[in-house]
Amino acid sequence: MIFAGSHILSVEQFVRADIERIFQVADSMEPYALRQRVTRVLEGAILGNMFFEPSTRTRVSFGCAFNLLGGEVRETTGFKSTAIAKGESLYDTARVLSGYSDVICMRHPESGSVAEFASASRVPVVNGGDGANEHPSQALLDLYTIQKEVKEKGGSMDHLRIAMIGDLKHGRTVHSLCKLLALFSNVEVVLVSPTELAMPEKYIESLRAAGHKVSVSNELTQSITQVDIVYSTRIQEERFASKEEADLYRGRFRLNQAIYTEFCQPNTVIMHPLPRDSRAEANELDNDLNQNPNLAIFRQADNGVLVRMALFALVLDVVDQVDACSRPVNWCHNRTFV
Ligand code: ASP
Repeated sequence: MIFAGSHILSVEQFVRADIERIFQVADSMEPYALRQRVTRVLEGAILGNMFFEPSTRTRVSFGCAFNLLGGEVRETTGFKSTAIAKGESLYDTARVLSGYSDVICMRHPESGSVAEFASASRVPVVNGGDGANEHPSQALLDLYTIQKEVKEKGGSMDHLRIAMIGDLKHGRTVHSLCKLLALFSNVEVVLVSPTELAMPEKYIESLRAAGHKVSVSNELTQSITQVDIVYSTRIQEERFASKEEADLYRGRFRLNQAIYTEFCQPNTVIMHPLPRDSRAEANELDNDLNQNPNLAIFRQADNGVLVRMALFALVLDVVDQVDACSRPVNWCHNRTFV
């Protein structure tokens, strides 16, 4: 695809060469994310960061990524603080805010809303999650993490075995990840969820159509014995009619160190898009995994900055100028990736 000036709304936009390009640019962002150098390549540019649903990582890492490229960030959070609460349409909001920004990131609870917003925007829009539909930048950083982790262990993407666990019906991160995995070869996907929260058929079909082996289960321990990646997810409480309904499913698939030791292969990588629900009744990834070197959840979150920097650099077409606008940092630092 041509990145310059494009919206990033769905992973369906990408072919494999696009993914490789994004990851190559993400790798080149490491000195900046590690604070070895600073670049001012986006000096004067403004990111409009509009989050109509709760967010910690996506919102802050999009903001940090833009700052690390030298740009400024303006933010709105929630509906109440915006004119949408006064009845303003997405169309009007997009027309107005795209006059103030050079690129916009947006999260919204309704599927398709970010695309609707983008159609009225005068600047590129990046989807930060639209309801249960898609979360393209998360899927990219997940895949980037999977590649790094698997490569370090001598494996390859083209024979990847992955278990996706939890609320696969509402989880937008697993929806986008399934679509991305369909671009590779011979992937084996085990989908583990309560029957009522199963992965929608269309995502399973896209994997099978690409020749991948997909199996479905509602049992955790036997599903994680032969995989390279365990990708756990939270019950998406906000997509249920009530908390009580979500409570029916919380805590069904808990992974802790004892289960990991008994059932997983020693190199199995543990991932989660975060937040993990650490309340006692949920606890899908126990804190006792924190010392497990294969727990990749914080490396995954760190990788989000690199991938989001890459998306901005590509969409605003400054990849070739990043280094020319850089210098070493002035301050004392000893940052490494976790
Ligand atoms: N942070 C991810 C999302 O926004 C995953 C989650 O919330 O469970 O979709």
